[in-house]
Amino acid sequence: MSQPASPALRLFDSHCHVFREEFDGDFDDTLARAHGAGVEGMIVVGTTAATSRTALDLAASKGTGAVRLFGTAGLHPHEAAGFHDDEAAKIRELCEREDCVAVGETGLDWFKEWAPREAQLASFRWHLSLARELDKPVIIHSRDAHEDTLALVREFPGVRGVMHCFVMGEAEMEPYLECGLSISFSGIVTFKGSQLNQAAARACPEERLLVETDAPFLAPIPHRGQRNEPAFCSDTLRFVAGLRQDDPVRLGASTLQNTARLFGLAEYAI
Ligand SMILES: [Zn+2]
Ligand SMILES: [Zn+2]
Repeated sequence: MSQPASPALRLFDSHCHVFREEFDGDFDDTLARAHGAGVEGMIVVGTTAATSRTALDLAASKGTGAVRLFGTAGLHPHEAAGFHDDEAAKIRELCEREDCVAVGETGLDWFKEWAPREAQLASFRWHLSLARELDKPVIIHSRDAHEDTLALVREFPGVRGVMHCFVMGEAEMEPYLECGLSISFSGIVTFKGSQLNQAAARACPEERLLVETDAPFLAPIPHRGQRNEPAFCSDTLRFVAGLRQDDPVRLGASTLQNTARLFGLAEYAI
């Protein structure tokens, strides 16, 4: 007697930057490998007005096949020195497009601090306001800036969105959950030494849990040090499922639905 085929892994990479030059040589193969790993869709996240336009164009031109792509528009905190009226007007125009599924990424990065703090704070506040005005989710990057990030999020009650590449612990996660935000775990959760982050991944309510690659950065174990790509999202998902003593197929389908619900992707609605 033959065994019934086991259901296949299905998941969604909730945050990647596949428009970057790291993928110039093998973009179609990258999509094919993602498809082979069960990745049904990706949120392609803009980091400047220019790359946001590229992300939206890529989603329109390459993202309608087996792996669906959805673009966003925003100014990354590393780029916040370029936050001025002209850039903001361009980002607003892109965010208003119907095919733009989120505002961001935005946020605060006190770890690298590549842009002045005042500029990062002004840019982040502007994105939060825009997200609430347009009723679109906001994608938040926060590194070594928990208290300031939380203070700004609390200035905008009702804002929807996700703490992307969440690297903090359970205690820090709680207030973001209270604010209504979802939590997206990246390859960092798989690293040795990420025990606090692993505890957060164990404790996160399932309906708020997302997974991402942040490709091309931060490849999960066993690919650490390589260029990251959306196919590797399945390694992070399996790892998180292991932490939660859950079935990866079941958890993958759940995170896919969470991503679809957050970003309003009617294609995946159940
Ligand atoms: Zn980020
Ligand atoms: Zn990113």
